[in-house]
Amino acid sequence: MKKLFRCLAIALAASLTIVSVAAARPAKLIALTFDDGPSPEYTPQVLDVLERKQVNATFFLVGRWLSGNEAILRRMAAGGNQIASHTWDHVELTELSDREIQKSVADTAAKLTEITGQTGFMVRPPYGSRSPRVLQAIGAPVILWSVDAAAGKTVPAKELVRRTLSRASDGGIILLHDTTAANADAVEGIIDGLHSRGYEFVTVAELLRLRGVSPQSGVLYRKAPAAGKGAETSGTWASGAIRTMADRGYMTGDGSGWHPGRALSRAQAVTVLWRVGGRMAENGSEPAFPDVPQSAYYARAAAWARENGVLRGEKDGSMNPNAPVTREEFYVMLARLARRKGNDGARTDKPAAYPDDARIDRWALLGVETVRNMGFSSRNDVEIFRPRDWTTRAEAAEVLNWYIGL
Ligand code: ZN
Repeated sequence: MKKLFRCLAIALAASLTIVSVAAARPAKLIALTFDDGPSPEYTPQVLDVLERKQVNATFFLVGRWLSGNEAILRRMAAGGNQIASHTWDHVELTELSDREIQKSVADTAAKLTEITGQTGFMVRPPYGSRSPRVLQAIGAPVILWSVDAAAGKTVPAKELVRRTLSRASDGGIILLHDTTAANADAVEGIIDGLHSRGYEFVTVAELLRLRGVSPQSGVLYRKAPAAGKGAETSGTWASGAIRTMADRGYMTGDGSGWHPGRALSRAQAVTVLWRVGGRMAENGSEPAFPDVPQSAYYARAAAWARENGVLRGEKDGSMNPNAPVTREEFYVMLARLARRKGNDGARTDKPAAYPDDARIDRWALLGVETVRNMGFSSRNDVEIFRPRDWTTRAEAAEVLNWYIGL
């Protein structure tokens, strides 16, 4: 947040420049996972790096190694990392009876709950060993991985970093162990390398949630769908806001549905902001965007948006109506509407802040900060903000539903 304030002066100047979606790059998401801990020697070292880098990971913990390491577990949970189960004593579950598997999972869960107060732990079977019977007996979502740089062998830290970076992909789950020096030493290089390639780190639960996957008991997950796939279901979290927007005629669907997971286009964005703003008349003093036909459904809204500075043109003066609006861009547009209406005053001492705020473009800082200072934070933004992801229609509905309730 400090950084946001520091850049305020720059943002004021920059907000006069053209808003363009050309530079938008949706965040690539990836999950770091650590198996076999807690280790009194290496787990704190891993947590040091995660805390310094403001990255959350998922830890698959072995039940019988928890006693004596309670403080490490509490630190892990307090930092926002996901706590998960690697069974009680790290044996191959295919060798156990159903009852033995269930006891191993239940004992570990009970111990994890006793220490952290959490419940509902995802499970990773030791060695990834499983069968349909084992998955059924586990009775929780089963998480494997898509990147394993060591493949069960001892590999030096530098090589772990190199292989992990070369095999990483959007939606991926990276397997590491917080039980060896090589793994602990590799964490920083992996985080820096993936950050520089445009990845954001999230827990496994968050990765699946953001990609529209509801983890099911007894089902195996190796990774999440890449961006843009399976996104339609992510709309359901905003169903109340969607209903309000639809009931009031602010955001309507087309013949085939409301499409909560679809990106909001610039034409749709100006239309809904114009409706929410009271369908204000444009006085026609500004020429319309050259690429907006008089007959377009959004023509009046576009003229109004241009006249009132809610939407500025692309570099060549065009509107580019079908281009999607990024999350930071929509905040900027809403902040400009709020300013026109005189209701952009600060309402909270604790505006939302996220570890990836450094990715917010300079021209968008003021707009994002204005909306946050007015008191908005999305229910859908749990761990990161994703400023350059497209705004989905569900996300637009949520923030507008909040705005009209002010
Ligand atoms: Zn293991």
